[in-house]
Amino acid sequence: MTVSDESDPFVSRLDPSTRRTARKTGGSAVVVGGAMAGLAAAHALRALDWEVVLYERQSYAEKRVNCGEAMTGADAIPLPKTAEYGFANKPPAFEVDVFTGDTGSRTLAGKGVFPSTDAYVTDRNVVERKWAEQVAEDGVDVRESTGVTKAQFREFSEEFDLVVDATGQPSMASKVDGTTDEYAGRMTALNADVEGDFSDLYPNSLILFENYLGYSWAFPKSETRANVGIGWAQDNLPDDYYESFVAACERNGWPVPDRSAMNVYTIPRGPSLDPDRAWDAENCIARVGDAAGIANRFTGKGISQAVESSYLLAELAAEDRLDDYASELYDRMKNEYRLAYIVRGALEDGRPDILGGVMDAVSGIDVESVDREPKYAFSRLVRHPVLLAKLAANPTMLSRLLDAYTDNWEFRKQHA
Ligand SMILES: Cc1cc2nc3c(=O)[nH]c(=O)nc-3n(C[C@H](O)[C@H](O)[C@H](O)COP(=O)(O)OP(=O)(O)OC[C@H]3O[C@@H](n4cnc5c(N)ncnc54)[C@H](O)[C@@H]3O)c2cc1C
Repeated sequence: MTVSDESDPFVSRLDPSTRRTARKTGGSAVVVGGAMAGLAAAHALRALDWEVVLYERQSYAEKRVNCGEAMTGADAIPLPKTAEYGFANKPPAFEVDVFTGDTGSRTLAGKGVFPSTDAYVTDRNVVERKWAEQVAEDGVDVRESTGVTKAQFREFSEEFDLVVDATGQPSMASKVDGTTDEYAGRMTALNADVEGDFSDLYPNSLILFENYLGYSWAFPKSETRANVGIGWAQDNLPDDYYESFVAACERNGWPVPDRSAMNVYTIPRGPSLDPDRAWDAENCIARVGDAAGIANRFTGKGISQAVESSYLLAELAAEDRLDDYASELYDRMKNEYRLAYIVRGALEDGRPDILGGVMDAVSGIDVESVDREPKYAFSRLVRHPVLLAKLAANPTMLSRLLDAYTDNWEFRKQHA
């Protein structure tokens, strides 16, 4: 691949002058963590002719990552969108149902249907394996089954021009700095692949809000196979979350997975990290993806965010503007943070009526645009006077609005 290869989704986003000069600025980079953020960083830096070494502590053949299997913004991933490459189902829409509770007497409080143009339900381990094979073919030195230690990570700043921390949350940079508590929030989620009859839903995907601080989902990969799961904000995590997952499957009519098939993961709720911490200029360390704390705080969605942060980093590297990375990343993400923070307030307050109203109002917007271009969602909200009146009458929603627009995020309060 060359910097002139415009069929490459990373290269095509560079402006022509950057493409012309990029080869002259190539340097050396080490990427630590080889999931979606790390693979995107390795791919993009290599496309700019950087010498890149990628460390992944797991083996791609055995990597167990069946979390985060709905990939929105998948056009940014330079792989054929076929089942062989892990892209199992292209859902035309994501359905979102808001219920008043999680018991048999629950009622539907609202519903949104979000069309998607380039989202896929994937076998994510396959996508990552294939992408790792591709970056290796492009010249990245991929060292799988090789975990980086804190001592090595410290030395990398001496050895490479750029250290990309793509290790998820809490990141290696936080571990090295002894600041693993610097992330202000996280979600815990359980999920599993199950076999069963999903023909009623397939090819669409379904997300259910059931009036707890979290949600459950069914992402069919075919009519007979789906990833199902449930997640909670950390302060709402039930004592026996395995049992709660079983109960969610039963009430929603999904097959109940064996406990041995259940995966448990944590994800940040962005902006859970002080955005300034995304770039350590002294040591040339950039955090991307979950390491930068940028997953969506409402939906927990973080793959397109991870890829976007890595491509942005590489773009700035090509322009010799790495010192702008933290502020540019924040500028790109802040409207998404704001929308997600405000909507999440309806969940925190136990107001399915408000959340249901929001879903009704924003229904029909492309699922990726809800994150990338939240102005469309905001403009829908202002056209719903009854909903606006409810929001205005709710003091905590108003204070959230104020916090969001004054950038008064939790990590500031936590570390004040
Ligand atoms: C249950 C669940 C469901 C989700 N569903 C979705 C979804 O449907 N859609 C979506 O967009 N997002 C989803 N998310 C969020 C999404 O999975 C994350 O935002 C995304 O994985 C972030 O990617 P990442 O590459 O930054 O980090 P991670 O995926 O956490 O990857 C970090 C990588 O670094 C490696 N690593 C860590 N430490 C070291 C080390 N010391 N040396 C070498 N390697 C190391 C790890 O092995 C891992 O491969 C979900 C999350 C969870 C928990």
